[in-house]
Amino acid sequence: QAKASGKDKTVFFNAGIGGQLSRKMELEKDLRLALEHGQFFIVYQPKWDARRGKEAGFEALLRWRHPEKGVVSPGEFIPIAEETGLIVPMTRWMLGEVCRLNKRWHDEGKFKVCISVNMSYRVFESMTIFDMVDEALRSSGLPGPMLELEITESIAMKNMTITLSQLQRVRDLGVQVSMDDFGTGHSSLGRLDEIPVDTLKIDQSFVKSSDLASKQALIVGIIGIARLLDLEVVAEGVETAEQAEFLLSRGCILMQGYYYGRPMLPEEVEAGAWRIDSAPSHTVRAD
Ligand code: C2E
Ligand code: MG
Ligand code: MG
Ligand code: MG
Repeated sequence: QAKASGKDKTVFFNAGIGGQLSRKMELEKDLRLALEHGQFFIVYQPKWDARRGKEAGFEALLRWRHPEKGVVSPGEFIPIAEETGLIVPMTRWMLGEVCRLNKRWHDEGKFKVCISVNMSYRVFESMTIFDMVDEALRSSGLPGPMLELEITESIAMKNMTITLSQLQRVRDLGVQVSMDDFGTGHSSLGRLDEIPVDTLKIDQSFVKSSDLASKQALIVGIIGIARLLDLEVVAEGVETAEQAEFLLSRGCILMQGYYYGRPMLPEEVEAGAWRIDSAPSHTVRAD
């Protein structure tokens, strides 16, 4: 009797909350096997140098091809991977793959650029970042400066002592660090000078509304902070020529967004069809 009612409860619980939770629970179950079943793949989005008219790097973004549900977006599965701790082995796999690919591109003379990998707080918390990065660099033979870690302000602020010491060790390997989604997280502005980063990435939300004077002021402010702290600045989510023109006119020359290239498979990146000659560039501007 007790068993039967327990079973009923489970059914009621699932149905009562609706499809949302049961999909999440299914994804959580399936995510545990996704790595060993080879269901993850990585896409690469260019970061474009509008002054030189060539790629300045790529960002590696994780994709999950679910056997029944199709491609699940990271917005949906990364939070689950973080909750369950699966993000740690996933990040280790990702670093290995990215370093191997970039070493090949480097050796074949295809691209000599840095590729970035997004980091989750859970990876810092696990205290394994240094070992993971060191292992990925060693086994691939990729030089440290050709790998970049993207962190967020929230990561940097969460447990500053732990995070900063780990970041410092990784940077001693020559690895680059960038601050993702800058301006949207737990504000790190007051201590930005203490965080070992090389680059600020202007969040897409600012770029999206860059026709508004108020957002323009914030973008100009971020570019100014980057310049004063001697950091690089990359604009994220650039979708139109107008947005690119505005950013260029304010001195931001590193661009990332659909206008310059969508996240692509390595073969597509290599084929080079995404390269644009018509994009606004710094050198051809009148002013
Ligand atoms: P993010 O690191 O800020 O990555 C940028 C996101 O914006 C990517 O979405 C990218 O496809 C999208 N994007 C790029 N250009 C444009 C544009 O012009 N317009 C619009 N509307 N979107 C653009 P994606 O790949 O879905 O990733 C979402 C987030 O998931 C990432 O945000 C990152 O926080 C997380 N993520 C993705 N892969 C990984 C990973 O391997 N590890 C961890 N920890 N997080 C990851
Ligand atoms: Mg990122
Ligand atoms: Mg971002
Ligand atoms: Mg963003």
